[in-house]
Amino acid sequence: MPIEPLSFGTETYLAEPDPVPVELSVSRMTGGGYALHIAFSASISGPCMRCLQPAAPSVDVEAREVDRPGGGEELDSPYVTDETLDLAAWVRDAFALALPAKIVCREDCAGLCAICAANLNTAGPEHFHEPEPDPRWAKLRELRLE
Ligand SMILES: [Zn+2]
Ligand SMILES: [Zn+2]
Repeated sequence: MPIEPLSFGTETYLAEPDPVPVELSVSRMTGGGYALHIAFSASISGPCMRCLQPAAPSVDVEAREVDRPGGGEELDSPYVTDETLDLAAWVRDAFALALPAKIVCREDCAGLCAICAANLNTAGPEHFHEPEPDPRWAKLRELRLE
């Protein structure tokens, strides 16, 4: 099942593998209609949202839908129309919902230095900038000198 690329901000993220193997099970419900279940694992690859290096966290996705004609809104799956399942749309939405809020290369990614944009994962803990003297304090110092 191909998953369309997702974009966050100006970056595009691709689902892998492509196509993603999706396990679909459909069971007929007593009283009509269908209960549907999908499960798949995919990773999303693109720039880490903290350090911009390549990231590809993987997610396990599982989703259920129920569709029973005349069953009211709760039993009317938006992905089923006239007994035809739009699996691609469902897989894409389920994947988007399962994604972490931030796509990072690793949980403890240190990100980029706020001052010089160096990658803090490789720059190491000794990466440090002398704090800029606050202009207000500089003024105070001047006053004291007078
Ligand atoms: Zn990162
Ligand atoms: Zn820096």
